Amino acid sequence: MSRISSLARQKVQQLVPYASARLSMSGGSVWLNANENSMATDYELSGQYNRYPDCQPKELISAYAAYAGVETNQVLTSRGADEGIELLIRSFCEPGQDAISICPPTYGMYKISAESQLVDVNIVPLTQDLTLDLPTLFTQEANVKLVFICSPNNPTGDLIPREQIIEVLEFYKDKALVVVDEAYIEFAPEASVAGLLNQYSNLVVLRTLSKAFALAGLRCGFTLAEPSVIAALRQMIAPYPVPAPVAEIAVQALSSQGQQKMRATVEQINSLRESFSTFATTLSYVSRVYPSKANYVLLSVPDAAALVSFIAEQGVLIRNQSSQLGLGQVVRVSIGNATEMAQLQQIMSSYSTKITTEKQESL
Ligand code: PMP
Repeated sequence: MSRISSLARQKVQQLVPYASARLSMSGGSVWLNANENSMATDYELSGQYNRYPDCQPKELISAYAAYAGVETNQVLTSRGADEGIELLIRSFCEPGQDAISICPPTYGMYKISAESQLVDVNIVPLTQDLTLDLPTLFTQEANVKLVFICSPNNPTGDLIPREQIIEVLEFYKDKALVVVDEAYIEFAPEASVAGLLNQYSNLVVLRTLSKAFALAGLRCGFTLAEPSVIAALRQMIAPYPVPAPVAEIAVQALSSQGQQKMRATVEQINSLRESFSTFATTLSYVSRVYPSKANYVLLSVPDAAALVSFIAEQGVLIRNQSSQLGLGQVVRVSIGNATEMAQLQQIMSSYSTKITTEKQESL
């Protein structure tokens, strides 16, 4: 290590950073490894950017508040939902003292964001049926300021039961914020808990334009919460977090035409997901197809790394999620467009033939 890099904080030197899909794998022509939406839209830009933007662009905040059915003072916009996660931890957790609770298998950034800010992480694994282990969650409450619940959950794809989320909100009333990550909620809109915001002042909902809205490259996310929580986050956010072109595009995506387009792609993706899940159950090497309400499906396989590299050799990228606590050998397939899914299904069928031949040869 050079003398200069040893000046970095000790935590930085030890931290295992988030291995994003884009960092972990490159190449390929069909990307089904980052839960993006393959069906992109074109946008128009004004082309003039000599002035600083508003910290919280009014038009964007109004558009998102209307879309989410909340008041404008209940919305914060940031660089993706990832920045929302970081801001929540930075604004509510005292380094070296407070903790967050997470329920894995789940999205990896809650833990990494907390660790990088010297905040402890309570790990309360989901139960066998992938619901919250409430008794354990409630006994590990010391110093907890934030409880992260991801629904639909990444990478399992299922919803956390609404009654359980309400129990957590009740238990932590006046004690901790309950952050429900709804990054994928457009694929199962009826499951949103945003309607509970006026009832529970400790509820926070995370949203993004990266998934159903097909704007992962835009980096635009939202935190919904009661006004005093939003005000606390605003104290910690950068002066100009949302670039003007980002706000321009986001407003177009949230227009009624933009929403209509998003809903049409959601319908297509949900139907492609169901056909892919049915197809996956026919593969002899897939021992479990996790039921999904999002734009991805998790599959249990004998050797995830071998399958991922076989598929990648033919230009299609999917994600190995086997490092996730309690899941064993699993791969996560993001649902692309019809052509991409047909290509993937053809490759996955040929993998069946390959392993059957290998088995016969070894006999
Ligand atoms: N939450 C979950 C559950 C996610 O899967 C992701 C993206 N991988 C995010 C949040 C972050 O999304 P964004 O692109 O808005 O930062």
